[in-house]
Amino acid sequence: MEVKSIAVIGATGSIGSSALDIFRNYPERFKPVMLSAGRNVEKLIAAASEFKPAHVVIADDTKYNDLKSALSGSGAKLYCGQAGLSEAINNCGAKMCLSAAVGSAGLAPTIDAIKAGMDIALANKESLVAGGEIILELIKEKNVRLLPVDSEHSALFQCLDGNPRKSVRKLIITASGGAFRDYSKRQLETATPQQALAHPTWDMGAKITIDSATLANKALEVIEAHRLFAIAYENIEVLVHRQSLIHGMVEFCDGAVMAQIAKPDMRLPILHALGYPERLEYNLQSPSFATLGQLTFEEPKYELFPMLEIGITAGKAGGLHPAVYSAANEKAVALFLDGKISFNDIAKRTEKALSTTPNLPVTLENILSAENEAKKQFCN
Ligand code: NDP
Repeated sequence: MEVKSIAVIGATGSIGSSALDIFRNYPERFKPVMLSAGRNVEKLIAAASEFKPAHVVIADDTKYNDLKSALSGSGAKLYCGQAGLSEAINNCGAKMCLSAAVGSAGLAPTIDAIKAGMDIALANKESLVAGGEIILELIKEKNVRLLPVDSEHSALFQCLDGNPRKSVRKLIITASGGAFRDYSKRQLETATPQQALAHPTWDMGAKITIDSATLANKALEVIEAHRLFAIAYENIEVLVHRQSLIHGMVEFCDGAVMAQIAKPDMRLPILHALGYPERLEYNLQSPSFATLGQLTFEEPKYELFPMLEIGITAGKAGGLHPAVYSAANEKAVALFLDGKISFNDIAKRTEKALSTTPNLPVTLENILSAENEAKKQFCN
């Protein structure tokens, strides 16, 4: 059996840590040859000491000396900064890249990995939202695979299982509803970052947890599903499903609906993407239906959580709108987490940024510049 070499962008995050758990359990199947992080140098050093990848990158160059003093005798080649990450991706020779950085930082390295001929296991949804046209074109050109890691898209991918697009009537993406699913309009006005970070069903990084509370995460996922599966926006439905057990459903032309059901644990979709087309054994329990009793479904509360509709509208508008939506949201979430703006301001500020979206072709340069402009508006 061949060991698959993996490059990990974002090895110190929530997805990165789940992936390391899989590598730990499957040394005969997966070998991380490149590990990268943003700024958490201690966690990166610990992971590099354990897995001994040949290439290690810290994006924050002020942390490079710490990396060097800890790993200089290890034989690993060490890099820093965005240019260093790009160089490591080119040097590492991995078969697959797990793209798991958070936010807009994921786009350029994901493009680098595709250009280097790697299959992509994609967790960083923001890159497909902002640069979907570029990524999909390159995937075709390089003849590599793009495998979803996002649990909803992994579920849809598994339900679709090679069925032709013409047999698909509708995709259904489920949402837990986030921390504020039972909040009133009045409660949302004073909602705090600490309250928003208390996700009812998933344990994830801070940014995506806030995106779950605003429902921006579902808007990003609708755009992601539209791009991944080439299904019209009108045929993608979002349903709140509090138990987070059904992750996605596909309705077929004969009226049958296929659903993927699993406990909320990201190791499952990560393993599915890493091992594809094989389904690998793992010590994860499935839900006990008799104990559960019931599964519930509700319409999302569009009026209380405007980021859902604002994002889908940006997706439909196309061009640079999805990139501006994603970048403005990212900046707004960072300011909310810092206590600088209110929860409801996230939608207001994002909508304002979208109104200034430039009407330019979707190139990497234009995306990066539109994203920077969108983020800069928050400084005014
Ligand atoms: P985290 O915030 O937990 O982790 C983010 C990772 O990105 C960290 O390793 C961070 O490094 C790294 N990072 C930040 N900036 C850079 C950079 N410039 N270059 C390289 N790495 C960088 O996020 P999550 O793991 O929660 O999410 C990662 C992605 O996966 C997001 O796009 C999210 O939407 C998606 N996703 C996450 C899910 C989850 O369950 N967490 C579920 C589905 C999708 P450091 O910590 O060292 O700064």
